[in-house]
Amino acid sequence: MPELPEVETARRLIADEALHRRIADVDDSDTFVCRPHSPGELRAALTGRMLTAACRRGKAMWCETSENGPDLGIHLGMGGRIVVTSQDGQVAWGGEPFRRDVQPPKAEWDRFTLSFADGGSLALFDKRRLGRVRLNPGIDELGPDAAEVTPAQFCDLITRGSVAVKALLADEILWQARVSPAARTNSLRRQDAARLYRALESALQSAIANGGVHTGDVIAARHPGGTCPRCGAEMRHGTVGGRSTWWCSREQVTLAFGPPDEETADEG
Ligand SMILES: [Zn+2]
Repeated sequence: MPELPEVETARRLIADEALHRRIADVDDSDTFVCRPHSPGELRAALTGRMLTAACRRGKAMWCETSENGPDLGIHLGMGGRIVVTSQDGQVAWGGEPFRRDVQPPKAEWDRFTLSFADGGSLALFDKRRLGRVRLNPGIDELGPDAAEVTPAQFCDLITRGSVAVKALLADEILWQARVSPAARTNSLRRQDAARLYRALESALQSAIANGGVHTGDVIAARHPGGTCPRCGAEMRHGTVGGRSTWWCSREQVTLAFGPPDEETADEG
């Protein structure tokens, strides 16, 4: 699933390369990706307009359009990418980075395309077809962006809910902050939330600087037999909040929160 840096990379690509270019045509024929819109609905709404701003809140991304047009929501799904082609045919990618072993892209994996009057285009490239494009998505319901809130707001947000922290934050951030993935967000102390905020901010900045690639210190240790790069203790694996996760067996089991749920933890 694209984490925030991938979505932010895609958003920046749109902001840098796709704004203020007149939309001449829209391929919205993929009724699954464009649901609930019927074929031609996005085309009718967007043709003749320009994208004027690229915005993001969490994993939700949307573009504002000219002449008071509708917002164009684009969700990358799992592994979707934004491909922007310039007037002179230069292709730029934004989103999840390519791995060396992936197949060359096929044209049918472009699930939604804006063709610009200058001859270039913007496409949602999505092999797995889990992305989604829709007009006027319910952005206000998504909550604030963790990368944009202040530390105090972040503490309030993260301590308010009761979902497992892991559902909100990735392994690297939890490891940096020495917080157990099974910690309930409403049990976090202010200082834990503050450490999480700093770790999230620094992980986002470094991933964005690296073109969306996760370069965190603990990523490479997430395998059976892996050891914590900080203290050398064994890395443990389990499922928390429905997601596979790795944590340091020494530093990320805080008594205040209790150890990860033994019923759902599967040693790997
Ligand atoms: Zn450790």
